[in-house]
Amino acid sequence: MKECILYKKLKNNKARCNLCYRYCNLGENQIGFCGVRKNIKGKIYLLVYGKPSVMHLDPIEKKPLFHFHPGSFVFSIGTIGCNFNCQYCQNWDLSREKAIENIKNISPGKIVSLALQQNAKGISYTYNEPTIFLEYALDIAKIARKKALFNTFVSNGYMTKEVVNKMKGYIDAVTIDFKANGNDNFAKKYISIVSEKPIYDTLLELKKSKIFIEITDLIVPGIGDNLDDAKKLVLWIIENLGDETPIHFLGFHPAYKMLDVPRTEFGILEKHYKLAKELGMKYVYLGNINKPNYENTYCPKCNSILIKRDFFSITKFNLTESKECPKCKTKINILD
Ligand code: SF4
Repeated sequence: MKECILYKKLKNNKARCNLCYRYCNLGENQIGFCGVRKNIKGKIYLLVYGKPSVMHLDPIEKKPLFHFHPGSFVFSIGTIGCNFNCQYCQNWDLSREKAIENIKNISPGKIVSLALQQNAKGISYTYNEPTIFLEYALDIAKIARKKALFNTFVSNGYMTKEVVNKMKGYIDAVTIDFKANGNDNFAKKYISIVSEKPIYDTLLELKKSKIFIEITDLIVPGIGDNLDDAKKLVLWIIENLGDETPIHFLGFHPAYKMLDVPRTEFGILEKHYKLAKELGMKYVYLGNINKPNYENTYCPKCNSILIKRDFFSITKFNLTESKECPKCKTKINILD
């Protein structure tokens, strides 16, 4: 347990958490919506500090980050809890879990040692929403930086501006995961948030802070697969983040409370892929569907295959040292 940052003490031993847009007002002994931040005698504490529930060495492509240290491995950690309540959460056994007592304690330094032992190039805070365990993530990230490891978040983006300020200088890349195709009605019904606007605000802050961004958009058949919504999202990205921002449209698979919704058909994903390309996005991908041609990186000018992928493995890397297309010399947005 550790005292949290970014909270405000209020009268009568109440306190407000300023970490995410839920801004939970907590009375004594109350726990926030995320399940991991508790008011004890007027101060908010992080209950999962030093308590990762999952640790795994993953290819960075699994986050997915396709343009940031491609082909590297990241030591990935997550805790229990979440500030969203997605009805189709793919990691619901973590996000909805409440029991903390039996989770083994692992210090930030030990996490970094484990990452180094496994030859990871970086650490990824993922599986559940890393914003809710920010104090733990930042303490790990600070040590990791000193050992020349990079740090990445896989996030729903529902964090406050203050959180992005804290990430600056420690978190190098973020995958922002849209779960509702930019549609507020969907967000209210299936995620339990009022609006997706804060996610767009976070993206602007991340860009300002020069943190590398990739976007994912989960396409839920029948209820979150509207092409007009996808168009709005893509046009916003082009205008505000740039057409070189990688975007991944992900296939849905039935999980948690939405076991009756089928997997996303390839045809629906392909329409999203074509739309984003037609609108001018340079790096578009499909995920959670076995279509390797849609996982490759193509030169946006001459269409040569620059990085060939098979699931999360790179089978061909065809870029110059300065990350140009070897054929037409177009500079490719890849950080290594
Ligand atoms: S991080 Fe948790 S406690 Fe803080 S505002 Fe968000 S849901 Fe509430």
